[in-house]
Amino acid sequence: MASTEYYDLLGVSSDATTEEIKRAYKKKAMKHHPDKNPNDPMAAQTFQSLQNAYSTLLDPDSRAAYDRYGPDGPSSRMGGGGGGMGMEADELFAQFFSFSMGGGGEPSGFSRRGKPRRGEDSIIPYEVTLEDLYNGKTAHFNLEKNVVCGHCNGTGGKPKAKPQKCTKCDGRGITPVTRTLARGQIGVSQVTCPDCHGDGTRFREKERCKKCKGEKTVKEKKAVDVMVERGMSHNQKIVMKGEADQQPGVETGDVVFSLRMRPHATIHRAGSDLITTVHVTLSEALLGIHVERKRGDTLSSGDTIVIKSEGMPIQKQPSARGDLYIHFEVEMPTEEWLRSVLESVLPPKKPDLDPRPARVDVVDWEAADMNAYDEHEDEWEDEEDEEDEGGDYGDEAPECVHQ
Ligand SMILES: [Zn+2]
Ligand SMILES: [Zn+2]
Repeated sequence: MASTEYYDLLGVSSDATTEEIKRAYKKKAMKHHPDKNPNDPMAAQTFQSLQNAYSTLLDPDSRAAYDRYGPDGPSSRMGGGGGGMGMEADELFAQFFSFSMGGGGEPSGFSRRGKPRRGEDSIIPYEVTLEDLYNGKTAHFNLEKNVVCGHCNGTGGKPKAKPQKCTKCDGRGITPVTRTLARGQIGVSQVTCPDCHGDGTRFREKERCKKCKGEKTVKEKKAVDVMVERGMSHNQKIVMKGEADQQPGVETGDVVFSLRMRPHATIHRAGSDLITTVHVTLSEALLGIHVERKRGDTLSSGDTIVIKSEGMPIQKQPSARGDLYIHFEVEMPTEEWLRSVLESVLPPKKPDLDPRPARVDVVDWEAADMNAYDEHEDEWEDEEDEEDEGGDYGDEAPECVHQ
């Protein structure tokens, strides 16, 4: 099946030249290198996908096969005569990287072969509630991980046995491997050779360690306790150093629990502060039920109060807490109810004018702006003060009472 996802990944058109592909890969690889994105757990995956796309598109044969069959095409599959796949994405990237960094040496994070210097971190999302983060909790996990085989000390062979060149990768330690997880999605794939784990050598079947069968590592179960501390936050990471899969000769990565806070139905958290909306009835608002307030204070809809130091605990500060904000929404009674209450309290409505006046003027009106009401008051008073001197009020003059 034809596919353009590799081209899309690199951001080039499907008729891009090799030079364009090289340039695009260099740019993208620099941007997505895991060392440059330590806080992005997806960086390694993106980087890996870029490498797959690049190594496939760089070679004319594999590119032609990809164009025709997509990522699952025959040439992308692993197998014997991968002679055409001379370019190794890692090595090319190494060139780019050391070149652009202005220095020699190896790119950080990778050894000369396909074997990484440090094993991958194992990232485990862990869902918690606001209550968990408020109270703190301990969670138990059973991890299954690869540990270096104790029987052969990670050599994978019997004592005295001599390793042979790995046939799968022809001793290079890496193989171009692509995997499609779902339509249009490239899965994580290791360019490290799965047979020799990047060493480039392997033992003959008869000479392999009986315990690990030449794999150099065995599976081990380990129970761990994860302490979720009071006041921890969404996306915070709890790192268990060196607990990820082991691989001989490679620094073991970490197991990282990444906290995911499930949103709370009524309480919203902002840092160490909490805010919640309380719905009260009109009488509660007027009489001040629930919240003790200063005498005479009434609540209006939309009022917010703050209660200091009743919010989230602050991590590593046992007695410190954020603030709790309470936002009040006053639920107004229905108009019908209001009318019936008001009618019982207010004087009766005046009857309609009877008889109706002979002339009724229809005028336009609008809501009043009371700021405008006394705008001209000062001017008016000034005029009056002046006129006062003359004392001429005509027929309408108020009576002066002299005592
Ligand atoms: Zn190999
Ligand atoms: Zn072993």
